Amino acid sequence: MTQKTILVIEDERDIVELIRYNLERESFRVKAAYDGEAGLGSAQRDLPDLILLDLMLPKLDGLEVCKRTKENKRTSHIPIIMVTAKSEESDVVVGLSLGADDYITKPFSPKVLVARVRAVLRRVAFLESGEQEAIKVNDDFIIDASRFEVTVDGESIRLTRTEFRLLKFMAERPGRVLTRNQLLDGAIGFDAFITDRNIDVHIAALRKKLKKQADRILTIRGVGYRFEDQVNA
Ligand code: CA
Repeated sequence: MTQKTILVIEDERDIVELIRYNLERESFRVKAAYDGEAGLGSAQRDLPDLILLDLMLPKLDGLEVCKRTKENKRTSHIPIIMVTAKSEESDVVVGLSLGADDYITKPFSPKVLVARVRAVLRRVAFLESGEQEAIKVNDDFIIDASRFEVTVDGESIRLTRTEFRLLKFMAERPGRVLTRNQLLDGAIGFDAFITDRNIDVHIAALRKKLKKQADRILTIRGVGYRFEDQVNA
């Protein structure tokens, strides 16, 4: 594997050095930026393999950095792990819906940090190597795996990687009740750090984006979810 570059956007220099030490020891190359603007600039210039993003940052906050990184075609593929304080849990939900791939709460153990970085990089590599094809649920609902897009009633909608994987996994198994664990194992794969609760957050975000087609994803109380391909008009 070629050496991967991790961009750390964090204003607390002690934390940057802690992260740098632990990642460099594992053969990652580390770049640091100490405020949101510098971080965004570095992301666009250096095109790192992954970004570790603090949320409370000077000049431009972490959520804004996340949003702009994911909106920019040049950088939208770069996975982001948010690094957050406990008090920022509501921001985490926003961050995930903006396309962040994962988050880690301070204080974190260096081992967990490295494991999450590796898990996200593996997941991205797996996705990029995956089969690229479109699933046509019906004329008004097409899932395009080559672009992580769905077309709903003629309008194309960008999904986050996680949302996309969940939808694709469910749509390939119409009518079947899928437990949260099956979704975790089957759709998310390798990442041991996305939890049951997280699945619900991603499904909620996905439903919101699917608008009129949202009803296809049914909640099966206490169990999980089911995708209906034959919803009566
Ligand atoms: Ca901070």
